[in-house]
Amino acid sequence: MIGYLFKGFQSQTNIRLYSDYIPLLLWNILKETKMAVLAESIETGINFEESENQKMIAQMVQDFGKKEITPKMMEWDESQEFPVPLFKKMGALGLMGVLVPEEYGGAGFSYSEYVTAISEISKIDGSIGLSVAAHNSLCTGHILQFGNEEQKSKYLPKLATGEWIGAWGLTEPNTGSDAGNMRTVAIKDGDYYILNGAKNFITHGKSGNVAVVIARTGEIGDSHAMTSFIIEKGTPGFTSGKKENKLGMRASETAELIFTDCRVHKSQVMGNEGDGFVQSLKVLDGGRISIAALGLGIAMGAYEAALKYSKERHQFNKPISSFQGIAFKLADMATKIEAARLLTFRAADLKNQGRSVNKESAMAKLYTSEVAVEVANEAVQIFGGYGYIKDFPVEKYYRDAKLCTIGEGTSEIQKLVISRAILK
Ligand SMILES: Cc1cc2nc3c(=O)[nH]c(=O)nc-3n(C[C@H](O)[C@H](O)[C@H](O)COP(=O)(O)OP(=O)(O)OC[C@H]3O[C@@H](n4cnc5c(N)ncnc54)[C@H](O)[C@@H]3O)c2cc1C
Repeated sequence: MIGYLFKGFQSQTNIRLYSDYIPLLLWNILKETKMAVLAESIETGINFEESENQKMIAQMVQDFGKKEITPKMMEWDESQEFPVPLFKKMGALGLMGVLVPEEYGGAGFSYSEYVTAISEISKIDGSIGLSVAAHNSLCTGHILQFGNEEQKSKYLPKLATGEWIGAWGLTEPNTGSDAGNMRTVAIKDGDYYILNGAKNFITHGKSGNVAVVIARTGEIGDSHAMTSFIIEKGTPGFTSGKKENKLGMRASETAELIFTDCRVHKSQVMGNEGDGFVQSLKVLDGGRISIAALGLGIAMGAYEAALKYSKERHQFNKPISSFQGIAFKLADMATKIEAARLLTFRAADLKNQGRSVNKESAMAKLYTSEVAVEVANEAVQIFGGYGYIKDFPVEKYYRDAKLCTIGEGTSEIQKLVISRAILK
């Protein structure tokens, strides 16, 4: 064990900067024990108790967040700064490659630990949670699932350690829910494809070092006529456009990707030509678990703030928690969060077992997102006028929560996915 930890410290320069950082030791210990926990989960089905690994990850994120996120998060929110150095530090802790196997430089954990990591980050700051989720599930997740050995060896170590930040481009200005109707084209020209078009609302559209981009290589309307490409920043013809000014999730960068006669070598295609859209749907099945975790974390944060405030705030010479109107709100919030937690960990557990999560991740994402919005709304209500003021934490949860019902498929699209699954 000591040898292992020592090797970890020696081999990662970034980590040495954190050599006084005790939670890192816990993370390394977790890496050693993960197989046992995964095996237990597969054998026994869902476990309602938080594992020791999950408890330690939660503690590590809380300690890190207190030091590195909480002091600056309102500043980032106000100025819409995407704090790139923070993501490098999270990379050193394993948070940028939670699901990536150790052989590619990742933490090599299962979806259960991933849900814990994302929900604990999002409990502190949803916009950081969103960026970590998009980086891990979308760009990194797509390459992990569908990249060939050469692509995985080239890109995963950089992404998993946070040296590079990843983006994933599916959405276009005129095609969001209806992504299959995309207009960005990739025309074959010898050993190259020439891309023209634009992707919008892309997380890390400006700061991303590499993007997975899905483009049309055949007829509009054919779901087997789209192809996924890995495109590095600096590739001629690949630029970024407008950075969006958002309601919430303001520290998570959202921007346009623009392709103008961008030549991409065929070695950058993942899988076969025509596989891109089907791959994307699979990537989103896993990604939705992370958006469920994002909503869960935001709901937890808003609820805990409201619970504490309700005991401290006095009106009519009593704490407001003693009024049934407030106590029942808290009861509803706690119950919905518990249900959201169970749906999310159930989807994670199925994913760990390699089973289909198409319906279950949509259910978890749908329910948890809506709960995040409801709980954040009630938290603002419990804070009264102070809930509307930026000196208190709940207005930010309220603004951040809404993204969860939109990103990676709106609530309506989740209902489409669920209804298709139950009616087939
Ligand atoms: C902060 C942020 C980050 C994002 N990050 C990324 C990213 O990294 N990569 C990426 O590719 N995309 C990203 N997106 C895009 C996101 O996935 C889309 O915004 C989302 O899928 C919805 O698409 P749209 O905005 O075009 O809405 P539209 O599809 O135009 O939907 C408008 C409304 O119509 C409803 N609707 C549409 N079709 C149906 C239907 N068949 N039945 C019922 N109702 C329907 C929708 O539910 C919604 O209420 C991001 C978006 C945001 C806001």
